[in-house]
Amino acid sequence: MFNKVLIANRGEIALRVLRACKEMGIKTIAAYSKGDTDLMHVKLADESICLGPANSTHSYLSIPAVISAAEIANADAIHPGYGFLFENADFAEQVESSGFTFIGPDADTIRTMGDKVSAIAAMTKAGIQCIPGSNGALGKNDDTNKAIADSIGYPVLIKAAGGGGGRGMRVVHEPSELVISIATTQTEAQAAFGNPVVYMEKYLQTPRHIEVQIIGDGKGNAVHIGERDCSTQRRHQKVIEEAPAVGITPKERAAIGKLCVEACCRINYRGAGTFEFLYEAGEFYFIEMNTRIQVEHPVSEMITQTDLIRAQLCVASGEGLPYTQEDIIFRGHSMECRINAEDPFTFLPCPGVIEAFHAPGGPGVRMESHIYSGYRVPPYYDSMIGKLITWGDTRDIAIARMRQALDELVIDGIKTNVPLHQKLLNNKDFLKGGTNIHFLEELLASEE
Ligand code: ADP
Repeated sequence: MFNKVLIANRGEIALRVLRACKEMGIKTIAAYSKGDTDLMHVKLADESICLGPANSTHSYLSIPAVISAAEIANADAIHPGYGFLFENADFAEQVESSGFTFIGPDADTIRTMGDKVSAIAAMTKAGIQCIPGSNGALGKNDDTNKAIADSIGYPVLIKAAGGGGGRGMRVVHEPSELVISIATTQTEAQAAFGNPVVYMEKYLQTPRHIEVQIIGDGKGNAVHIGERDCSTQRRHQKVIEEAPAVGITPKERAAIGKLCVEACCRINYRGAGTFEFLYEAGEFYFIEMNTRIQVEHPVSEMITQTDLIRAQLCVASGEGLPYTQEDIIFRGHSMECRINAEDPFTFLPCPGVIEAFHAPGGPGVRMESHIYSGYRVPPYYDSMIGKLITWGDTRDIAIARMRQALDELVIDGIKTNVPLHQKLLNNKDFLKGGTNIHFLEELLASEE
C-alpha cells in the first residue's frame, strides 16, 4: 500500500479521500489554492502545499504545479478526485512518467473514453447497445448529414465529442434547423472544449438516466456495484441520485452489470468508473463512460456496504480488488441530495460566510461536506458544498430519513438549494419513483 498520497482536489471529495487514506494508515498531502487555505482537509492533512492562486487555471488545473507539489512532498501517488484534472489523459500520463502512481485508469483509456465518439465505437465493439446515431463524427457534407438525420428520425441531438458537464448538446426538431444547428454546436464545442467534433444521436423523449458503477483491477478483473438512477436533473446536471433504480429487477441489474464488467475486462480497466445509460422502454442505451469516482458514488456504497475510495487505493497500489462479484450484496435503498450554495429559485451561485452549520444525524444518515461554522464558501469554484445521503431498508424509509435530515440541516448565512430538495421530496410523482430526465425541468417550468 502507498505511504503518502497527494490529494489534487478540493471540497468534499478531497475530505472524503483524506478520510479513506487516514483509515488505511496512508499519509496525506493536501494540494490547495490560495483561495482555499481554510478548507477542512487542508487543516487535517499531514502536509499541505499551496499550488498557486485561487484561479484554478494556475492551481488545480496546472499540471506542473501539481506534479511539483508531489515531488516536493515525496508522494507515492496522486488522487485526482473529480473535476479539474480528473479526466485529463495528459495529466495521467505525466503523473506516471514522473514516477508517481495515478489513482485512476491509464492515460489511453482516459483518452478513448474522454472522446464520446471513440467511447461509443469502443462500446459498440464490446457488444453494448448505444443510441441509434451517426456512429462517428459528422462530416462537412450537408446532404450526408441530412440523410443520417432522416434515417434516425427527428428529433435528433447534436453532441460534442469532447462535451461534458451537460454542455455541448443541441436538440434539432426539424430538418430545416439541422445544418445551422450542427454549425453552431461545432463552434460552441471548439470554444468550450477545444474540439469542434460533433456527432448525432436520436433524441430520446422520455428516458431515465441510469448508470452502472464498476471497479476494475487493470489485470482483466472487474466487479459491478449495481446501478444508480440519476434522472432528477436540471440543465443535464444531476440534483438527486438514488440506488437502486426503481423498477430495475435483479435480473436486469445482473445482465447490464455483466455487460459492463465484460467491457471493463476486455480493456483491462483499472480503477473506479461509470457506464452511463439512457433507459427507455426497458432498454439500456450507452451514452458515455466516466473514468473517475463520481459525486454520487455514496449511494452505491450505502446499499452494498462498500468503500469505493478504499477500493480505488487498493487497485491503484496493486493490492487488487477488495471483493469479488459474489461479495457484493445489495441491501435497502439510498438517496443523495446535492447541497449547492445557490439561490433555490434563480439557481445563481451564492458564495459567502457560513455563519452557522449543523449536520443532521441518526440511523442511515450520512453527510459528506467540508463546510463548518465560519467557513467562507469561495466564489471561484463549483457551488456544491456537500452531499446529504440517507439509507433505509426501503425507498420510503430512505425518503423519510432524507426529509427529516433536511429539516435538521442548518446552513445559515448563505442561500442553498435545500428548499428545492424539500419540495421534490414531497412531490407525488417523485415519491412514486421512476421519473424521467425531464421531470424536474417540467416541474420548475410549471411553477413559473
Ligand atoms: P455530459 O458528459 O455533459 O454529462 P451526457 O452524454 O452524459 O453528457 O448526457 C448528459 C445528459 O443529457 C443525460 O443524462 C441526459 O439527460 C441528456 N442526454 C444525453 N443524450 C441524450 C439523448 N440522446 N436523448 C435525450 N437526452 C440525452
